[in-house]
Amino acid sequence: MNLKEIKPRLLMGPGPSDVDPRVLEAMSRPTIGHLDPQFLSVLNEIRDMLQQVFQTNNRLTLAVSGSGSAGMETCVVNLIEPADEMLVCINGVFGQRMKDVAERAGAEVTAIERPWGEVFTADEVAVALQEQGPFKVVGIVHAETSTGAAQPIAPISEVVHQSGALLLVDTVTSLAGMEVDVDGWQIDACYSGTQKCLSCPPGLAPVTFSPAAVKAIDERKAKVQSWYLDVTMVRAYWSAERLYHHTAPINMNYALHEALRIVLEEGLEARWQRHALHHRGLKAGLEAIGVRHLADPNHQLPMLNAVAAPEGVDEAEVRKRLLDEFNIEIGAGLGQFKGKAWRIGLMGESATERHVTSVLTALETVLVERGILRETGRAVAAAREVYSS
Ligand SMILES: *Cc1c(COP(=O)(O)O)cnc(C)c1O
Repeated sequence: MNLKEIKPRLLMGPGPSDVDPRVLEAMSRPTIGHLDPQFLSVLNEIRDMLQQVFQTNNRLTLAVSGSGSAGMETCVVNLIEPADEMLVCINGVFGQRMKDVAERAGAEVTAIERPWGEVFTADEVAVALQEQGPFKVVGIVHAETSTGAAQPIAPISEVVHQSGALLLVDTVTSLAGMEVDVDGWQIDACYSGTQKCLSCPPGLAPVTFSPAAVKAIDERKAKVQSWYLDVTMVRAYWSAERLYHHTAPINMNYALHEALRIVLEEGLEARWQRHALHHRGLKAGLEAIGVRHLADPNHQLPMLNAVAAPEGVDEAEVRKRLLDEFNIEIGAGLGQFKGKAWRIGLMGESATERHVTSVLTALETVLVERGILRETGRAVAAAREVYSS
């Protein structure tokens, strides 16, 4: 493959999302040493900007080398020692993944489940805490990318802290696309990824730990199971000591630095509102052609729209045609939704009117050709009505 021939796409799946040229340009700045004072300034600024985006004063806030799953693993392995009790809330693929990671770290895991597309109530979690606890850590996913469901965190946090447990939250898909308030919601450990609403290429995992989480880490008896993800060592590099642990991915950090600057230039509130607006536009368009969202209508994510593929449609063939003929990438259903759903992402730079009207036009065109719809134009018209009102 000649890399010069790679065609740009409209990235409207579950990530990566479209990347601003400013971020790609930042990645091409000179590679310098990981202890070069210039690079250390970059890291300090990344930490400051991550604190703003996570809405936290947590000092232990940094970007882990690796994708969002490395962030998940970092939070789990640093909080969990062998035989520690952990409660994991599962309503999709990523809750399931957290359970797997926790078991591999030696946790005694108790799982509670909700049907896909639904969210947990504080009462359900409180019952599990009371009947099956005590737990050291409770893990939950804020934005379940496999189903499009948005889990309210604040009420869960209250019952978790009443029980004395630490709260671990996955904000890979939500961060910078909807409200995430680490300090306000009293989240103890939180991780994200770069390629979703931060609109940066994949490769880093922002994480943050509260003072209570840091205390638990400092009081560990066993060494952290992963050498690479051990924050007791990684934090010595991110602190004034600048102790070598592993070589930071220099140019990836440039990318995150620029992506965070873009997020803060727009402003968090404005960015959340933009995601919400384009979700409404897309949803109106899809509803106009009978394509329904799968998540609970009261708890739908703006940036990830999991919808049922219409009866009689080969969902994989539609996705392939969108990619081949329209240069638009949308996602397939995962797990229980495999072969039945599309996942349409509106993340970061991909949350624009142009993206919404482009994907609706392409979908209508293909569905008319397949005989599912009689005419094109309805979906786009419904979306435009949202934008003009
Ligand atoms: C994408 C995602 C992950 C995993 O991130 P990777 O970057 O693919 O490793 C974890 N949790 C959620 C909710 C996600 O959407």
